Amino acid sequence: MKHIRQFGGGTAEGRASDKALLGGKGANLAEMAAIGLPVPPGFTITTEVCRHVIAHGVGHYPDGLEAEVGEALRRVEQLTQTTFGDGHQPLLVSVRSGAPASMPGMMDTILNLGLNDETVAALAARSGNAAFAWDCYRRFVAMYGEVVMGVVAPSEHEDLAFDRIFDDVKRRHRAHRDQDLSEAALREAVGLFKAEILRATGTTFPDDVRTQLWGAIGAVFASWNNPRADYYRKLNGISSTIGTAVNVQAMVFGNLGDDCATGVAFTRNPATGDSELYGEFLTNAQGEDVVAGVRTPEPIAALAAKLPAAHAELVRLAKVLEDHFRDMQDLEFTIQRGQLFMLQTRGGKRTGRAMVKVAVDLVREGKLTPREAVLRIDPAKLDEVLHPTIDPKARPPAVAKGLPASPGAAIGRIVFTATAAAEWAQRGETVILVRTDTSPEDIHGMKAASGILTSRGGMTSHAAVVARGMGKCCVTSCTSLRVDAPKKTAAIVGGGQERRLKEGDTITLDGSTGEVFLGPAPLVPARLGEEIGTLMEWVDSFRRLKIRTNADTPSDARTARSFGAEGIGLCRTEHMFFQPERILAVREMILASDETGRRAALAIILPMQRGDFAELFRVMDGLPVTIRLLDPPLHEFLPHTAAEIDEVAAALGKPAAAITAKVAELTEANPMLGHRGCRLAITFPEIYEIQARAIGEAAAEVAAEGVAVHPEIMIPLVMVPEELRRLRELVARTFEAALGGANIPYTIGTMIELPRACVVADQIAVHADFFSFGTNDLTQTTYGLSRDDAGRFLPAYLEAGVLPSDPFAVLDPEGVGALIELAVRGGRATKPGLKVGICGEHGGDPSSVGFCHRAGLDYVSCSPFRVPIARVAAARAALADGRKE
Ligand code: PEP
Ligand code: MG
Repeated sequence: MKHIRQFGGGTAEGRASDKALLGGKGANLAEMAAIGLPVPPGFTITTEVCRHVIAHGVGHYPDGLEAEVGEALRRVEQLTQTTFGDGHQPLLVSVRSGAPASMPGMMDTILNLGLNDETVAALAARSGNAAFAWDCYRRFVAMYGEVVMGVVAPSEHEDLAFDRIFDDVKRRHRAHRDQDLSEAALREAVGLFKAEILRATGTTFPDDVRTQLWGAIGAVFASWNNPRADYYRKLNGISSTIGTAVNVQAMVFGNLGDDCATGVAFTRNPATGDSELYGEFLTNAQGEDVVAGVRTPEPIAALAAKLPAAHAELVRLAKVLEDHFRDMQDLEFTIQRGQLFMLQTRGGKRTGRAMVKVAVDLVREGKLTPREAVLRIDPAKLDEVLHPTIDPKARPPAVAKGLPASPGAAIGRIVFTATAAAEWAQRGETVILVRTDTSPEDIHGMKAASGILTSRGGMTSHAAVVARGMGKCCVTSCTSLRVDAPKKTAAIVGGGQERRLKEGDTITLDGSTGEVFLGPAPLVPARLGEEIGTLMEWVDSFRRLKIRTNADTPSDARTARSFGAEGIGLCRTEHMFFQPERILAVREMILASDETGRRAALAIILPMQRGDFAELFRVMDGLPVTIRLLDPPLHEFLPHTAAEIDEVAAALGKPAAAITAKVAELTEANPMLGHRGCRLAITFPEIYEIQARAIGEAAAEVAAEGVAVHPEIMIPLVMVPEELRRLRELVARTFEAALGGANIPYTIGTMIELPRACVVADQIAVHADFFSFGTNDLTQTTYGLSRDDAGRFLPAYLEAGVLPSDPFAVLDPEGVGALIELAVRGGRATKPGLKVGICGEHGGDPSSVGFCHRAGLDYVSCSPFRVPIARVAAARAALADGRKE
């Protein structure tokens, strides 16, 4: 069996479609070689080998691998006219990981492998540049020391020893920039690095180039199981068994002098989607310098002036690659003595806004069909496009400015370590992670933070790339910021002043402009660009599911309509009860000792509810409005403080002690399984009666204004058909009486949110015009997991992989989903055309929307900001199963 595939020098033993075997990097290197792009020759050790290592242990390779590697190296030697380990014409290689799924920054890279005291002299002689040769060597020893030999930073706050040593060498040799160091200084650095390796690990740095190579290959395979790779895979749902490939490739050098450079570029702007070559480069540097934030890179446009021929070639190849892959590409390149080499291409990570613009523009350019464009949209990422931004009319003065690395606005309290970010967020704080720069170890803190601010690094630094991927606001390279992480302080210097910041202070970031503000800045809702309208037209033409919204107020309903909601799927009437001028009447109703008392309080509530419903009908203007009758346990409305008790006692003309006693009497051990939902109306029918009357009167009033109204009255938490039979009769009678002769079509349906209701859905359907799955309660009751308390231990379940995802966020297809399917079948067996929807939180989660499509639901209902996400998810689900109906 073959364990490696070769590329470059006129050979390509693979294509882009071989990602599972060659990893993303290896497959695309092969593809670039296949279409004739300048790729330095090399070879890819396949993911099968990694899986062998995972199964048999580190250092255990399949038979024959060593011989194959030797043979492949010989081909590279011939093509480059060099020899690995040779004292005259040495071959140097890079060794890089490359998994089938992109895991940026998670795995390790080693450059300049093949250097030792002998080959470095040969490299110096060949290049005529001894400083260059020793610069390569010091980089290699440090990378090898860290990645292969395991030299680590002493703590999260401290730099790696190599960085400390190198800074010290620079200081002693009075060099401001890395490239100012002399050969002697670099030699000194190499000696000190090797001594540090021996001190820290007890092992000598290996001079033998084959030992170096196998050490590096082994380290890349071993890094598959390092904690940060593991964490990234969990975060992104990547299987831990697929393994990584290893790419071994002849080095080309961007650090041979000023006619050399290295950089990264996107074929379109990854923040806005604008069609322009976008990226950064450094002259006289090696790859890692650009992303590591060691030096601040220059924008790609400046390359045109410095190395015009190489720039023109880069522009040309960027277009070739984008046209070839029919998507925006993220490229890595090196220019060696004016000649351009491509080192990597992959689909570029982009903001939600860029995702939409690029997809729409590619259709307009004739490169994609609308269908392909919709399938390229990650629905969850649309969230960013809909995020609020800082109010332009009330914009406070900025105190600092960095690069706008990832858009949106974030307000939060500052923390200085990833661990603090995760801990504070766990306590419910909104935090901004402030760092000099970030590294893959910080991922958990970046995930927990609402925004990220760094003082170093460019648009393609780790912080920028990861934040963009997560859809998180990020400002990088904020050079006036001085961070002192161990002291938990920072300072913003400039204009002759210094503003001190400490842990816990609130700041606001504008990731679209790069500005930083002290304190919280006022935010305004997002403005949607023209492209999203076009995209949504395509989306709507593909989807079958209708998308409604959960809205209790006219303003939410208006927002949802602007996002394309096709009706209200859930209006929780109890939310209207909490307004300050109403709560007293509600408390009077609950605490009244008899029906007369309850009716008196309900009489106060009636006109208020009528007004609420009338306004919702006006906003929705003929679209269906599903109004759910009172649902929560009554104790939620009870007075708790002494002042509240006194207020209710005075209103009811009773002593405070009597109210206190009544409150105690109403307290339940398990309120979520208690006196709530339609059970309230079985015991106190007048509650639903008054609500049905308010809906009827509101409908008649608005219809009289010439507005079409379409009420759907929904009864919650039904467990037996008899509940619905009785309450339907009560509601229908009252509602029709309230219409006062107006002819308004209406329906009465039920929520299905208990397992029993799913099982007897055929019987419940006899009394229902529609079903709406309350998947919040259905998940709670199916799992026997409290909605209110499960958050305390569910993270541990997710962490340990006992559950794949939080079932309250992502609908569980096997358990809860099976009950839904059962209920849909049962309901439609009784009433073939029964309308069925979902109004739990899952209605806005893309994978759950996919399930709803496949289960044959008619609509999903979600919070207003998730409406566009649900529309896209519904279209993708319809396209994925190839049927609209
Ligand atoms: C549900 O249970 O899914 C639902 C929508 O109702 P609530 O969240 O109000 O209980
Ligand atoms: Mg519910």
